[in-house]
Amino acid sequence: MPRVLIVEDERKVRRGLEEGLAGVGYEVEAAATGPDGAQLGRDGRFDAVVLDWMLPGMDGLEVLRALRAAGQSVPVLILTARDAVEDRVLGLDAGADDYLVKPFAFAELLARLRVLLRRGQPDRETVLRAAGLEIDLLRRRVTRGDAEIALAHKEFALLEYLARHKGQAVTREMLGRDVWADPSYALTNVVEVYVNLLRKKIDAPGERSRITTVRGVGYRLEE
Ligand code: CA
Repeated sequence: MPRVLIVEDERKVRRGLEEGLAGVGYEVEAAATGPDGAQLGRDGRFDAVVLDWMLPGMDGLEVLRALRAAGQSVPVLILTARDAVEDRVLGLDAGADDYLVKPFAFAELLARLRVLLRRGQPDRETVLRAAGLEIDLLRRRVTRGDAEIALAHKEFALLEYLARHKGQAVTREMLGRDVWADPSYALTNVVEVYVNLLRKKIDAPGERSRITTVRGVGYRLEE
């Protein structure tokens, strides 16, 4: 049974989520402030975290950074009233796995949460190799020869996805759906921003990019 932590200061929303998720069989714990959420989330007993952005004490981004700094790779869904692309990028860059804008339908939240929980399941394959890179999924490390390449959370997820489809063209829609759990990302510049961030980190200076842009389609990572 999935265990979900809800961090939300608005009592009505928190109660609604607690009851809704308990109603579909999830084990739910809730916190009403940032520091309480960070403390509960740090011990690693949750399969997913639903995290409000605006919180008393510490905001959602600070809570998220605290969780990631404590080594927690638990999937995090951020709730927020903000909807600017820059804010999304900020949240995703801080290590959020997905983003839901308030007000949202409970069915939508449930669908997103299911995707995150599925993605969190262990995979038999723990090291991927593509484009001269070694991607260690358990240690969350990327190396090229002896050099380690430091990637932000979402950059890593993007590289992992491209590596699982190495040599194939993947569409922006696939990336939106499977990496961001939201096909509408294909319509924003978020996918492109992240592909370019990733290129800067994995490409050798002066060489052709390891990620080819396939015109009118999307992107392809070298085998
Ligand atoms: Ca709030």
